[in-house]
Amino acid sequence: MAHDELLRLTADYAAQYVGSLPERPVAAPATIEELRQSLAGPLPEEPTDALQVVAELIAAAEPGVVATGSGRYFGFVIGGALPAALAADWLTSTWDQNAGLVVGGPSAAVVEEVCLDWLVELLGLPSGVSAGFVTGCQMAHVTALAAARHHQLERAGWDLARGGLQGAPRIHVVVGAERHVTVDRAFRFLGLGSDQIEIVEADEQGRMRPDALRAALAGASGPIIVCAQAGNVNTGSFDPLEEIADAVEAAGAWLHVDGAFGLWAAASPQLRHLVAGCGRADSWATDGHKWLNVPYDSGIAFCAHPESHRSAMSVRAAYLEQSEPDAARDQMDWSPEFSRRARGFPIYAAIRSLGRSGIAAMVEGSCERARELASILGAADGVEILNDVVLNQVLLRFGDADAVTQDAVRRVQDDGTCWLSGTTWQGRAAMRISVSNWQTSPADVERSAAAILTAASVPVS
Ligand SMILES: *Cc1c(COP(=O)(O)O)cnc(C)c1O
Repeated sequence: MAHDELLRLTADYAAQYVGSLPERPVAAPATIEELRQSLAGPLPEEPTDALQVVAELIAAAEPGVVATGSGRYFGFVIGGALPAALAADWLTSTWDQNAGLVVGGPSAAVVEEVCLDWLVELLGLPSGVSAGFVTGCQMAHVTALAAARHHQLERAGWDLARGGLQGAPRIHVVVGAERHVTVDRAFRFLGLGSDQIEIVEADEQGRMRPDALRAALAGASGPIIVCAQAGNVNTGSFDPLEEIADAVEAAGAWLHVDGAFGLWAAASPQLRHLVAGCGRADSWATDGHKWLNVPYDSGIAFCAHPESHRSAMSVRAAYLEQSEPDAARDQMDWSPEFSRRARGFPIYAAIRSLGRSGIAAMVEGSCERARELASILGAADGVEILNDVVLNQVLLRFGDADAVTQDAVRRVQDDGTCWLSGTTWQGRAAMRISVSNWQTSPADVERSAAAILTAASVPVS
C-alpha cells in the first residue's frame, strides 16, 4: 500500500469522525473488557501492511473513543480542537521536528517565539516574560515553580544548581485550600513535601482569603513561594489577585498563578476584570489544550524572571549545537524536556484562525452557555446551583441526599447525550459541568439540559 494512499484514507476517516461529532453519542460504547478483546493479542512476530494496521486500529479502538470533541462534552475541563489547530497538529507529526533545539527545527523555534509574543498580549502578561511550551499545566507548574525555587534560594544566598536542596534554606510554600492537586504534585517533584506547604483558608466559592494569606505571610520567613489560582476547577472562581499580589510583594515572596483555563478570561474584555492584578505575579501556568482548543499536549509556563527560568532549566552538551542565547531560543533551555514535539504549530494556527476577537468570543460563548445551563437547570424543582457562575463552570445538586446527585451523574453518563462528572464540594456531592468547547451551541445546551433533568428524574418544565 502506497504511503500517500494510506495518509489520504486516514485523512478521510478523520474528516468523517470529526463530522460525526455533532450527532454522535458522547460516551464510548465499548467496555474495557470488550476493548481488551479487540485490541490485545500476542506481540506480533511478523510485519503487517500499514493500511491494514490502521484500518484495524480504527475498527478496534473507535468503540472506546469518548467524543470529547463534542459540544456536549462537559467533563473535567477538556476543550476541543479548532479545525486549524487540528490540521496544524497533523503537520506537527508530519514534519516531526525535534523542537528541543533550533537546529532540530528552525520554523518550530520561530513559531514558538511568535506564539510567546501573541500569548503575552492575549493574556495580559507583562512584556519580556519567558515561556516554556510543555505537555500541560501540570508540567507548566513544575517549570515555573522550579524557576521560583531557584530564584528564591538565590536571593537567600544559595546556589541550587550546585548545592541541591539538601542543606538549603527552608522554602516556605503557601497555597489556598482549593488549589488544584497538580500544584502539590509539582512541589513534590521539586522536593517539597506536604509538611512544607502551608494551606490558607478559602471562602465558600473556593477563593483564597487574603486576610488568611496576610496572617500566614506574617509568620513566614526566608524564601517564600505563594500559589494563587485563576479559575477553580469546580466553581470557576478567581482568587482576589490584586490583594494577594499586595501581600506577596510586601513579603518579598514569589507569586505563581495557576490559570490552567481561567487565565483565558484575560482574553475577553468582558471577563478581564476577573484576573485584575494577575500581571503582577512572577510566574503563570496555563493550557493551550483546554480553552484555546488545540489538541492535547499543550501547556505553557510563563516567567517574569527569564534568567531564573533559564538557569533552572538549561542544559549544555558539546554535541548539541546550541544557539547563542540572543540569537534564537533552544526550547530545551526553557522546559524540562530534552527532545520534544513542536508544540507551537497548533497554538499558532489556533490564534491565527480565530484572532483576538474570535478568542474573546469563544471564551465568552462558553461562559454564556454555562449561564444558560445554570438557568435552565436551576429553574427545575429540587435543583440547587451551588456556585456563582462567574465563568464556564456550573456546580449543581439534586435533593438532600448525596446519593441522588451521584445517581444522576451516573445516569447522565450512561445515557450518552452529554457527559459530565461528579465531584464533592464543601463536603456534599455535586454534579459538575464545564463548558470549554468552541462548538458548544445553544442547541447543545437545550438537549443536554433536558437529558440531565430526565436522568435525574426531575420534571422538565
Ligand atoms: C486542568 C488543570 C490543571 C492541570 O492541567 P493539565 O493540563 O491537565 O496538566 C491544573 N490546574 C487547574 C486549575 C486545572 O483546571
